Amino acid sequence: MPTGLGVSPGAAAGPVVQVAPPVRPPADEPAPADTDAATAHVLDALASVAQELDARAAGADAHAAPILKATALIARDTGLAKAAGAQVRAGKGPANAIADAVAEYAAQFEALGGYFAERVTDLRDVGGRAVAAVLGVPAPGVPTLSVPSVLVAEDLAPAETAALDRSKVVAIVTEEGGRTSHTAILAAQMGIPAVVQLPGATAIAEGTLVAVDGDSGEVILDPDMAVIDAQRARREALSAALAAVSGPGRTKDGHPVALLANIGGVDDAVAAGAQDVEGVGLFRTEFVYLSAQTMPSVEEQAAVYREVLAPFPGRRVVVRTLDAGADKPLAFANLGEEENPALGRRGLRLCEARPELLESQLEALAIAAKDTGADVRVMAPMVATVDEAAAFAARVRAHGLQKAGVMVEVPAAALRSRHMMAEVDFASIGTNDLAQYTMAADRMEGALAHLLDPWQPAVLDLVAVSCDGAMHLGKPLGVCGESAGDPYMALVLAGLGVSSLSMAPSKVPAVRLALSVHDLDECRALADLARNARSAEGARDAVRRAAAEELSRVL
Ligand code: PEP
Ligand code: MG
Repeated sequence: MPTGLGVSPGAAAGPVVQVAPPVRPPADEPAPADTDAATAHVLDALASVAQELDARAAGADAHAAPILKATALIARDTGLAKAAGAQVRAGKGPANAIADAVAEYAAQFEALGGYFAERVTDLRDVGGRAVAAVLGVPAPGVPTLSVPSVLVAEDLAPAETAALDRSKVVAIVTEEGGRTSHTAILAAQMGIPAVVQLPGATAIAEGTLVAVDGDSGEVILDPDMAVIDAQRARREALSAALAAVSGPGRTKDGHPVALLANIGGVDDAVAAGAQDVEGVGLFRTEFVYLSAQTMPSVEEQAAVYREVLAPFPGRRVVVRTLDAGADKPLAFANLGEEENPALGRRGLRLCEARPELLESQLEALAIAAKDTGADVRVMAPMVATVDEAAAFAARVRAHGLQKAGVMVEVPAAALRSRHMMAEVDFASIGTNDLAQYTMAADRMEGALAHLLDPWQPAVLDLVAVSCDGAMHLGKPLGVCGESAGDPYMALVLAGLGVSSLSMAPSKVPAVRLALSVHDLDECRALADLARNARSAEGARDAVRRAAAEELSRVL
């Protein structure tokens, strides 16, 4: 098996469960010759979906069972069956009849709002399953797992990944995706080892035993016990080395580089709060609302934020306002189809047309901050101009929140760092998007991973310019993109002058170890080596070769 890209650390072995891709009704499906038979086919498909969901509900836990039962009721809804029957009589084949009836129903649910709008995702799930049933192909999405398994998929949608049962998924392997795709981010967040971009992954037979190494990207089919034992021994040696250092991030000579957690919701916050981190450097608030159909009220938001902040009294929590759009679509926060969503009205830009999104979030955060005593700092995503930064900071302060910041994800923000930083209290570099926009390479496009590489010297140059601006004004500048969790890159970033590194908590120990065995001057020298390289591979190799042997021996 070729090697993929390891994006979430750890190793695990288990049987493969394939996740079937979404099913689309065929465009050339013929009109039914016998409408009664076609209608019966549709009804059978809906009934089989209802039965399947009931069976899953019977084996599910107390949280999932009622959701699955409610979804089964949608599949049994007589109105949906009638709507599909009407489509058949209008000349549609069974698969298209179901898809069109679901689309019609979804529009009605959305118009009704409230509880009904919340059910649109479940309705679409029923539709996808029923279309698969009439076509006789596997139902899309993550199947119910009876034993701890390795999930294999072409790719996983963010909402799908977020809903995974952590106790049953021992590792994730995808054929597509990339270092900064949200599957990778969420897997690391959940502490599930993951490998992306593994050619041929979806062709691995269901049930095959595989050993997955989320560090090296290696996936071994039918491993013998010796391979599994060797994997375990290596992990144990690494764990022992990592456990030997603890506490705040510091270089060998004591220069502080705060180690912070990236989180996406209450579960992550509770888990991170119990770990050896100095706080949260990025709370991706949009992750809480990936499946929401309607905008949450101020009270609903405040309730969630309170739970997220509660584990961090006295510790910093950097909250990012909604970064909706492009790779993180939110049903209630979009302005319709765009030709190029990644370059469109996403992130902070959305709030010009929908100011209530920002205002309600800030109001809810101010309430939650007061109630919990966490050191809340609020930053905006996708900031491109100094005026945007100033306007955002003014809104944050108007809500009584003390510290306002911006993400540096757009090259313009990096290049204008001095002016941008003058308007805010802090900034955080999002290397995922900074790489995307610097290299003009879509972060969803696995085939462009070599361009999206944060080791690209052009990206490092922009990080360096940002740091110069921050240091000139004496203001804190962190990194919260995935590159902060790469121990070798962490050394380069420290050498360039960043004051904090925020990452999935599973990545913190290796970064802490890396910093502890290099002094600041060594980090600066490594940063020079990386920036003087001709290519991303050249930069990475030069730093790996020059880094302390104590590190390369265990990583
Ligand atoms: C980034 O772009 O690096 C970042 C941290 O934000 P996200 O990955 O959520 O876009
Ligand atoms: Mg980003």
